[in-house]
Amino acid sequence: MSKSLDRAEKSGDRLTMHYVPRILVTGGAGFIGSFLCERLLETGAEVLCVDNFFTGRRSNVAHLLDNPKFEVMRHDITVPLFVEVDQIYNMACPASPIHYQFDPVQTTKTSVHGAINMLGLAKRTRAKILQASTSEVYGDPEIHPQTEDYWGNVNPLGPRACYDEGKRCAETLFFDYHRQHNVKIKVARIFNTYGPRMHPNDGRVVSNFIVQALRGEDITLYGDGEQTRSFCYVSDLVDGLIRLMNTEDDVTGPINLGNPGEFTIRQLAEQIIEQTGSKSQLVHKPLPQDDPRQRRPDITRAKTTLGWEPGIRLAEGLKPTIEYFRNEIREMA
Ligand code: NAD
Ligand code: UDP
Ligand code: UDP
Repeated sequence: MSKSLDRAEKSGDRLTMHYVPRILVTGGAGFIGSFLCERLLETGAEVLCVDNFFTGRRSNVAHLLDNPKFEVMRHDITVPLFVEVDQIYNMACPASPIHYQFDPVQTTKTSVHGAINMLGLAKRTRAKILQASTSEVYGDPEIHPQTEDYWGNVNPLGPRACYDEGKRCAETLFFDYHRQHNVKIKVARIFNTYGPRMHPNDGRVVSNFIVQALRGEDITLYGDGEQTRSFCYVSDLVDGLIRLMNTEDDVTGPINLGNPGEFTIRQLAEQIIEQTGSKSQLVHKPLPQDDPRQRRPDITRAKTTLGWEPGIRLAEGLKPTIEYFRNEIREMA
């Protein structure tokens, strides 16, 4: 296995040699990826952030560039990548519906060709590889809350399919590379995550509602607003991802990572109005096609296998998120 030697640590006159893991984060300049890079650097690891900057931003990782253990490479993971690493977090993929539906063919390629390339890389380097899968593999779920053994209810032809089916196929590839080539895999099914560094124009519900509330614009409830989501603060999620990566080799997942606190979209809007002190009104817009009616993770497996559960409640996590959007709006003005 390829490892880099770090000579930096000295104790008295003795030079202590120790291994520093080299970690590849694809999609590292994105919302979740940038927090992950930051947290991994804090553990002393070397971090290679690979991103094509489709939805990611340099500003998300600008504060890390002075760290000699951090490197950014502009690269599209649908193209093979030859680097030497010990761990791979495969986070690259647009995640918000307007972003992943902008170029659906590229979205599927990113999930499928990207997974093949990153699994090929893991196979050659014997690196452990973690896939950022999604609650979208459950589609519009018929069982509630969702457990990992539920196979899902996905429309393979609709506008969300490029994302949902791409992610489902990526999971298939992960398990086949594991069975066929003994690649060490970890599959995390991530539920709706929010926090600072979300893209202000990504169309996701948290970013839309906060931006609308701060600007005093109407808050757009799609459909009746009674559909539900469960929102996980980004630092909790990143903690879960790192714990999963550091499990024994026989732990492959899939493992749900999300906050089981479930809210209707209307409740989210009301919470954001309250916390921003906004005078915005709620208005109704048509519900997008195939919009899941309800979503809530069963996190029993994460609790027992990782000793993980989220600690940050929605009202708490919204505070720094609202502050972040306040600054973004000021800078855009
Ligand atoms: P994001 O859009 O902020 O980040 C994705 C990153 O991947 C961006 O930096 C983008 O530029 C990069 N990227 C996209 N296609 C690429 C390609 N072909 N090659 C290289 N880089 C590419 O989204 P996010 O919310 O940070 O999501 C990160 C991962 O987590 C995604 O895989 C997403 O599917 C998954 N996920 C996110 C959520 C959520 O609620 N945010 C929920 C479930 C799963
Ligand atoms: N690959 C890569 N980096 C590597 C090793 C492989 O990007 O370090 C790519 C490789 O180009 C191939 C894919 O990963 O397209 C799958 O690799 P695998 O070894 O499974 O398949 P093969 O090369 O035999 O088709
Ligand atoms: N939504 C909404 N108004 C908006 C944006 C989204 O009512 O301005 C709804 C959307 O229809 C969905 C939920 O909020 O039911 C979550 O949407 P998001 O795009 O954030 O995530 P996903 O549907 O992928 O879970």
